[in-house]
Amino acid sequence: MVAQLLDFDLEGLAAFCAGLGEKRFRAVQLYRWIHQKGESDFERMTDLAHTLRGKLAGAAQVAGLPLLSEHRSADGTVKWLFDVGAGNAVETVFIPEADRGTLCISSQAGCAVGCRFCSTGHQGFSRNLGTGEIVAQLWFAEHRLRETLGLAAGVRAIDNVVMMGMGEPLQNYAALVPALRTMLSDHGYGLSRRRVTVSTSGVVPMIDRLREDCPVALAVSLHAPNDALRESLVPLNRKYPLHELLAACQRYLAAAPRDFITFEYCLLDGVNDTPELAHELVRLVSGQAVASRGLGRIPCKLNLIPFNPFPASGLQRSPRQRVLDFAQVLQDAGIVTTIRRTRGDDIDAACGQLAGEVQDRTDARRRLALRREIIPIAAAGAQP
Ligand code: SAH
Ligand code: SF4
Repeated sequence: MVAQLLDFDLEGLAAFCAGLGEKRFRAVQLYRWIHQKGESDFERMTDLAHTLRGKLAGAAQVAGLPLLSEHRSADGTVKWLFDVGAGNAVETVFIPEADRGTLCISSQAGCAVGCRFCSTGHQGFSRNLGTGEIVAQLWFAEHRLRETLGLAAGVRAIDNVVMMGMGEPLQNYAALVPALRTMLSDHGYGLSRRRVTVSTSGVVPMIDRLREDCPVALAVSLHAPNDALRESLVPLNRKYPLHELLAACQRYLAAAPRDFITFEYCLLDGVNDTPELAHELVRLVSGQAVASRGLGRIPCKLNLIPFNPFPASGLQRSPRQRVLDFAQVLQDAGIVTTIRRTRGDDIDAACGQLAGEVQDRTDARRRLALRREIIPIAAAGAQP
């Protein structure tokens, strides 16, 4: 079997190279070629020993995901759609900002959590992505952007990664952690732990494991300040109710690279956006609600997300003034609150739109084939 080298973190690659009779420093060289230079052709890895290149030729490959389409928004946002087989596709989105470049990465094809306001959730779960498929999104995007943006050697395009694309990353833990390690490795992408964010709907045991195995910044999708409402929006709340989730957040903070948790709260018209609920949210995070069960204040930031509507949800975006009023209640209580700017609206790259293309899975294979014909494929084989 040919090994897919994007599947390995540095330790994994060192073990693989050891199996070929090669020393660790050779693995470091190889890893740097792949991730720092974006090289996939062993013959072009000029300072690798000839013997190693020969061994790799038959035993390994660096295979990107087949690219289905690339869309560029007027605001600089870029959205890529990748084929992950069997009629499934995942999306990756680059969001340029004045001070940083953020890549939003998918962790699963579909999602089993089934949140009411999320088009990925409505799509259902297809399968977990492998480590290599998660890393391939960054590998491709980084090197493609360096090329298209004409960046000078050594300047990177992406310095911030958010696991906020399709899927629940903490329900694909085994593949996630080696992918995070490659993002963080100085020989890989060299990203700061503070600038790699795992976003979760609240898989409590895995929040604890992440704290032990690979603490990075944590975003928790809250969406409601009490269990009854949260259950109706995020079904996983039945398994891991708010007091357990908040306790896990407190424990996480002990090891987290940031001294706060980001709570995401998607504002849905008439559902979770009233001033009363804003006050209840204040009480929850300041440890005064029943659901806080004496946990005390949770150092946090609130990120309010304007809902991106899709027809099957039957939900609407809260009016702007309601969003501002909700934010005001939080700010008045001393909670740092941001309202997410919607980006890439013209290319459907905004949060929660990511699954739009493959919503109807029964028909997805045919439509993907069709897309191949009608959308120019920028780089088949995903070579940067
Ligand atoms: N499964 C993880 C990460 C992917 S979803 C999680 O739920 O956190 C990333 C973010 O997008 C989450 O905060 C999610 O609540 C939000 N989101 C999902 N659908 C959305 C929609 N239609 N409009 C706005 N935000 C949405
Ligand atoms: Fe899954 Fe996150 Fe969407 Fe919920 S919001 S269905 S957890 S991707």
